[in-house]
Amino acid sequence: MHQNCDTLWVQVLRHKYLNDDMFLTITKKSGSITWNAIMKALLALKDGFQYRLGDGNSSFWYTNWSGIGNLANQVMYVDIHDLQMRVRDVYIDGKWNFNLLYTTIPVDVMDHLKLLPVCLNSQVVDRYTWKGNLNGLYTAKDGYSWLNRSAFTDNATNDITWNWVWHIPAPEKIKFFIWTALHNALPTKTMLSHRGLLQVNLCPRCNIEEETTLHCLRNCISGFGGLIRNSDGAWVHGFAGNIGFSNILHAELLAVYHGLVLAWELDIKDLWCYSDSKIVIKLLSNHVNEWHHYAAIIYNIKDLLTRNWRVRLLHTLREGNTCADFLAKFGARNPEAYNSKKD
Ligand SMILES: [Zn+2]
Repeated sequence: MHQNCDTLWVQVLRHKYLNDDMFLTITKKSGSITWNAIMKALLALKDGFQYRLGDGNSSFWYTNWSGIGNLANQVMYVDIHDLQMRVRDVYIDGKWNFNLLYTTIPVDVMDHLKLLPVCLNSQVVDRYTWKGNLNGLYTAKDGYSWLNRSAFTDNATNDITWNWVWHIPAPEKIKFFIWTALHNALPTKTMLSHRGLLQVNLCPRCNIEEETTLHCLRNCISGFGGLIRNSDGAWVHGFAGNIGFSNILHAELLAVYHGLVLAWELDIKDLWCYSDSKIVIKLLSNHVNEWHHYAAIIYNIKDLLTRNWRVRLLHTLREGNTCADFLAKFGARNPEAYNSKKD
């Protein structure tokens, strides 16, 4: 219903029940047996969709593009001059211009927005995408595993056998690590404080949340970083940034994006761009559908690549990129969304 708008059955149902309303935000309407079943599924799967910015044409105040609800609800009132403001009217050239608004935004909301890694691209439409996978497309199979995922976290590790871990073709120490993590037995701060060995259980990296197994392996804040060297390998310019609670692909893409922008600004015309992510290289060399979570960043990078310069995208191992790795960690430790360093 949401993603295949062109099929006949979707068009019929849309005309009958939706008119111009958005399917995902519709409030319950009853109808035929089929429609009622769809509404039931929608209720269960709704949380699996998230709002993803593209061209920034969404209303600044009346869509939940920031993840904290409609901003109109966070302010005393929206000034009449600001009613029509879209996200892209306030976020210009990679920066927030809150001074363009007549409405006063609370400082904490402003701080939250400043930390969001916003990236706009005019070819990508703002819309809800499926967050169960990174390409943003919903399939029945994904929906099924999404629903099971919450069941999985609820009954923790007890009912599941993890014996298959020992059959992974990997070194013993890796298998042991995975096994320990799956049994929630890694010596995280939460675990150590639970056993009375530590007083504080805050994650030392972000100082915001408890350091649980999932937090340190998956949910902690991430950063990105990169550097430009000349043909002799000497340092020219470096950059780092923070993307909050996100994932590694996002960080890798932002590193490539900011690296290319920086190189272009430095007037470099022949560039070898190394990334330690094979997925990034693959995404950039193939067609990416518009629903992808990071479509805006990917399209921005592709736009940069078509400019009048020579860029070669290459894969390198993280070990061969120690300095970039250091900058990425630096980015994660510092709150700024982006900063660049000359020396
Ligand atoms: Zn953390």
